[in-house]
Amino acid sequence: MTAQGPTPPPAEGRRGSAREVGAAVLPPRGREAFAFLGLGSNVGDRLETLQSAVDLLENRPGIRVDAVSSVYETAPVGGPEQGPFLNLVVRVATRRSPQRLLAACQAVEQALGRVRVERWGPRTIDVDILLYERRRVLTRQLEVPHPRLPERPFALVPLLEVGHAEALPDGRTIASLLAALAPIDGVTMVGAQVRPPGEAGPSREPST
Ligand code: ADP
Ligand code: MG
Repeated sequence: MTAQGPTPPPAEGRRGSAREVGAAVLPPRGREAFAFLGLGSNVGDRLETLQSAVDLLENRPGIRVDAVSSVYETAPVGGPEQGPFLNLVVRVATRRSPQRLLAACQAVEQALGRVRVERWGPRTIDVDILLYERRRVLTRQLEVPHPRLPERPFALVPLLEVGHAEALPDGRTIASLLAALAPIDGVTMVGAQVRPPGEAGPSREPST
């Protein structure tokens, strides 16, 4: 029989702390962390852009996309008058710190030709970190959980699909955040799907 050493204490030292800064926030050694990313597009071929963004994320070192939500058409919130978005949420397994995950999200935005013109204006692609495990991160460049997540049904609805068991660091569940916004308007599941990376075939169009 193999001798078992004493069980190490749970690695909970930083859980629940109010603030984690810079390089201190790393995924636990030797395993991947999970995170949820919110993607949105309202310019050009929106579905094709979302598919490309998911594929590009998978191709970045240290990131695996392991779940892709349905695609939702959503009314724009705030900003100038603009066309509707397609939104989805992916769950990723990552060896990257939150900061390096943000760098990957921004590289994908740039690869797809995002030009920042106007805050909350139309965009080819937006990739936001919604949650990184159940941690809080607050730096000049990054705030996690995403500060506007609780008020954004277009992020919460797809997040519930791929992260129904998740909660914010303060314990609020995704379902409770959505319930607080009910009734939900302006978020409609569309028939088209974005393929998880590695699955063959074109994006699935509605069969109507
Ligand atoms: P928004 O997504 O709010 O419409 P942008 O995509 O233009 O706006 O992002 C503006 C800045 O927000 C980025 O340069 C980034 O540094 C910062 N930011 C802070 N927290 C996050 C987060 N959780 N996910 C993505 N970007 C974030
Ligand atoms: Mg963004």
